[in-house]
Amino acid sequence: MKTAPQTLDEFMAVALAMENEAVDRYTEFADMMETHNNGDVAAMFRTMAGYETKHARQIMDQMGWQSAPAVPRKIVCWPGYESPEAAPIDDVHYLMQPYHALQLALAAEQRAEAFFGQLAGMTTNDSVRAAALEMQAEEAEHVALVQAWMAKVPQPDSDWSDDPDPPRYID
Ligand code: ZN
Repeated sequence: MKTAPQTLDEFMAVALAMENEAVDRYTEFADMMETHNNGDVAAMFRTMAGYETKHARQIMDQMGWQSAPAVPRKIVCWPGYESPEAAPIDDVHYLMQPYHALQLALAAEQRAEAFFGQLAGMTTNDSVRAAALEMQAEEAEHVALVQAWMAKVPQPDSDWSDDPDPPRYID
């Protein structure tokens, strides 16, 4: 991010873009896991996508938007190429267990939380700061939720990625 959003509209456009990207990514993961008959993990990613969808809808309602506005180019400059809340696709493994899926989600939610915190510190606009702090608090809730979930699922063995019957790909 080069420039902090100057107005609440700009800020909320950034926040919405982030949530929508998170929805897309979690849904993409869920689809991938379904392809590999990994139903448990697919369900987990769908639930995360559901949280982010709710969050995105909340922003739209709050702003009275019918569709997502374009984000000013000068602002959208994520730390990497991807939005902080989008878990990297390379980290997905077809044999991954719920615990791994949650690890990915945890990292994404923590990045989102840090991002909004950083933004709150950068902005000189009071309404943007207030909105950024609110988003940060909501992401912190997602973090806590994922952590609570992680405490309930079994921890994977070290040989979790050994496949006795590896998939064969036919071109
Ligand atoms: Zn989130």
